[in-house]
Amino acid sequence: MLVYIALGANLGDAALALGDAEKALAGLPGTSLLDRSSVYKTAPLGIEMPASERACLPADSVAFHPDYFNAVVSLTTSLTAPELLKHLQRIETDAGRQRPFPNAPRTLDLDLLLYGSATIDSTSLTVPHPRMWQRAFVLVPLAEIAPERVSIEQLEAVAHQAIWRVGAL
Ligand code: AMP
Repeated sequence: MLVYIALGANLGDAALALGDAEKALAGLPGTSLLDRSSVYKTAPLGIEMPASERACLPADSVAFHPDYFNAVVSLTTSLTAPELLKHLQRIETDAGRQRPFPNAPRTLDLDLLLYGSATIDSTSLTVPHPRMWQRAFVLVPLAEIAPERVSIEQLEAVAHQAIWRVGAL
């Protein structure tokens, strides 16, 4: 099965975290890495930090939500989609991921974007990823390695979101 996975990180050495995640993905059972996008940098979107968390931070804590590093990789895998999701969550945990509140900064976030042409809607897994079409940090790197999976209209819809290509993964 041909699958696309989005990688994101904005804590610690985020670029290193993406590289390590790519290696972990390439090493999954029955799986080979096919292609990787460039690394992109984006400003955080949709952060809603609870007041209780905010109160613990110094007033100049803008650095608490540093920019994200994002990339997309394609794999071929014989894993099922639920098996793959479990591996993604384990790799996130191994990278030190914690979930103190929704959209909190993260050492590593892995999203299963596309699993072949399958449509999946279970309690733990929705594919295609439900928010991918609203995110330049997903669509721009995805279009780089799979232009046939992203339309010009879809790219235009996120063109107002700032995104910078920073280099190779
Ligand atoms: P997040 O906090 O962004 O890592 O979201 C993880 C949650 O999203 C988990 O509970 C997953 O079961 C769920 N989820 C649903 N669809 C997907 C998907 N396509 N890729 C990754 N996580 C998903």
